[in-house]
Formats: sequence, C-alpha cells, structure tokens
Amino acid sequence: MERPCLSICPLASGSRGNSVFVSGGNTSILVDAGLSGVELERRMRARSLSPDSLSAVVVTHEHTDHIQAAGILCRRYNIPLYINSRTHGAAAAKLGKVELVNLFACGTRFEIGDLTINPFSISHDAADPLGMTVAHDNAKLGIATDLGIATSLVRQHLQGCRLLYLEANHDPYLLNTGPYPWYLKQRVKSRKGHLSNQEAAALVCDVRTPVLDHVILAHLSEQNNRPEKALQAMTEALDAPHIKVEVARPDLPGTLIEL
Ligand SMILES: [Zn+2]
Ligand SMILES: [Zn+2]
Repeated sequence: MERPCLSICPLASGSRGNSVFVSGGNTSILVDAGLSGVELERRMRARSLSPDSLSAVVVTHEHTDHIQAAGILCRRYNIPLYINSRTHGAAAAKLGKVELVNLFACGTRFEIGDLTINPFSISHDAADPLGMTVAHDNAKLGIATDLGIATSLVRQHLQGCRLLYLEANHDPYLLNTGPYPWYLKQRVKSRKGHLSNQEAAALVCDVRTPVLDHVILAHLSEQNNRPEKALQAMTEALDAPHIKVEVARPDLPGTLIEL
C-alpha cells in the first residue's frame, strides 16, 4: 500500500486544551500540547500513536490551553521544543526547565526531520502567536487556530493546502446572546480574538485550490458554538461534497487522517 504523505490526528481542541499530532515520512510531531501529559499520552495511545515516536513539540503561543504539557513531554521523551523567542519568554514559568529548545522566527521556514514547517504570524492576544503549514513531499496542510482576523499573510500561507485545520470559534448569534460578560464578548470578536464560523468559512473559500480535500474545524467554543452550526456554515459555503468537513472535539481524539 502506498504510504501517506502526511497524517494528522486532532488530540484535543477548544479552550480547555489543544494538541494536534502530525506525521510525515519518518517524523512525528505535536503541534501544541495543551492538556496534562498523562491525558495527551492516553489520547495518543487510544489512536495507536506512540508518544515515544515524537521528534518534537512545536508551540503556537503561550496560552495554557496550548502549552500545558509542552515542557513535561519534552523532558519525559527527551525531545526538543520548537518555539519562537517571545513566546518562549512569555511561557517560561509554564514550561519549566527544558533542555532542548530550538528557537525559530515567524516567516522563516525550518525542517524537523522529514517535515518542513513554515510558521506565520497571526493576530491574537499573545506575545508572538503563529499558525503554520507542515509539508512533506508534495503535500501541505495548514494549522491556524486562535486567529483574531485572517490577514492577507494568513491567506497567502494557507493557499494550496490539502487539509486545513482551522478555527471556527463561535456562532455570532450564540456569542451575542450568550452568558459571556460584555468585555469578553468584545475580546472574542476583536482583531485579537477568535474567528466565527462564517469568518472561517469565508477564509477557506478564499484560500481553497483544487487540491483541498479536507477541513477540520477546531477550537469551537463550548459556550458560544455548536458543532452542527460550524459544520453547516462551512459545508454551505464550500458547496463541494468531495471536501470532507469535520469537527475536532475537546473531549476525544479524532481519527488519524492520511493524505
Ligand atoms: Zn490563545
Ligand atoms: Zn486557544
């Protein structure tokens, strides 16, 4: 059987924790590690993924829902942490002591084993937050959560992906009428907050090319969104039955998707 170019498995998604397993060639990494170490290991094993096989943990920004176990896993498996320097500074206390730290800069691509990572800046209320594309052979996937707005830089990077793992944080009606205090509603909607279902759908429609065959909706708010609303907004906007659209869950790992 032909070996997949790239594989991806969402392990957790949402404000209680985020982590995505990505693999290509002989290299496997975690993008973010925002659950306890024990829980992340449990979720990986539940999908027959071995934590021992990890080559790195790559971090998008310093919020606890993205880095809670980053330091723990790097120490436990003696693997390097990939992080940019401002995030590293902001995350020092949460990370604890990590021996192997590889600092990178947004806008400068780098390799981890067989994977090519291309990190790009996003607008969010963190020190130096980023999204990234991960490529191997001729396949590329894009990961972008915690996006205040989709800038032209973001659009540029996400073009030509076979799979997009993208934030669809809230339904505007549920956010407006929901229990959040006013200031928090404003924060979520701001340029440094989170994308709505409709903004995510518009972004995907903008960056799609004929190679796009998979969209994973991520970082859904449990208060201000519903999976069926996010799915509906995306599938209606895409109007393309061959593109699979699914939701990454907070409580369970997803299935391993092979491209
Ligand atoms: Zn965040
Ligand atoms: Zn987050």
